[in-house]
Amino acid sequence: MYDIAIIGAGPAGASAAIFAAKSGLKTLVIDNDKGVTRRAWFENFYGIAEISGPDLVDRGIEQLKKFGAEYVADEATDAKAEGGAVTITTASGQTFEAKHLILATGFSAALAEKLGVNTKPGTEPRVATIIDVDAQGKTNIANVWAAGTVAGVSVHGIITAGDGAKVAINVISELKGARYVDHDVLKA
Ligand SMILES: Cc1cc2nc3c(=O)[nH]c(=O)nc-3n(C[C@H](O)[C@H](O)[C@H](O)COP(=O)(O)OP(=O)(O)OC[C@H]3O[C@@H](n4cnc5c(N)ncnc54)[C@H](O)[C@@H]3O)c2cc1C
Repeated sequence: MYDIAIIGAGPAGASAAIFAAKSGLKTLVIDNDKGVTRRAWFENFYGIAEISGPDLVDRGIEQLKKFGAEYVADEATDAKAEGGAVTITTASGQTFEAKHLILATGFSAALAEKLGVNTKPGTEPRVATIIDVDAQGKTNIANVWAAGTVAGVSVHGIITAGDGAKVAINVISELKGARYVDHDVLKA
């Protein structure tokens, strides 16, 4: 049983996974590498003068692995939320169980719709359908959250990454029973 399963390893999902794994929670990431970010070139990411989309995505995956998140290259084809746990099935026939699920599936709301999560029309250019979330990133289904483009935020790398971090911090806080902060301090 994972504490947090995340579908999608673009900026939103990878950023969520970095926070979740770094906090010590057992974290799973499932990704089929069909995101839009690999097609981008970034010159507006705070603190990074310029970076290609493929480099950004690859660095994010390296970083989430460094903190102990398990990365599975597969497509999540189905998910069910029952009895306080979420079961995820993949195209290769694997099944995984997690206490919490974060959907960070970019332009695709297909898995959310299979789960029965409430969706609505997107407001960003070319984003047809988004998941209906509250300010914390919670969906209408207990223990199922959403972050990034699929949760309706502005389609920019730094914003989707920040939204993934925000939602992960909210899940971590709920699991640990106290508001969670991840601050490393510069060594003198
Ligand atoms: C051509 C182009 C140029 C851009 N240029 C810029 C720019 O200059 N500056 C900027 O800030 N933004 C830019 N963007 C936008 C930016 O890439 C996105 O806003 C942002 O990175 C999206 O992040 P995300 O994590 O929400 O989605 P994505 O990066 O799309 O990640 C979603 C991930 O979920 C995976 N996934 C989906 N469904 C499943 C499933 N069922 N099972 C497993 N995995 C699944 C996908 O394969 C993907 O890896 C650009 C976008 C494009 C297309």
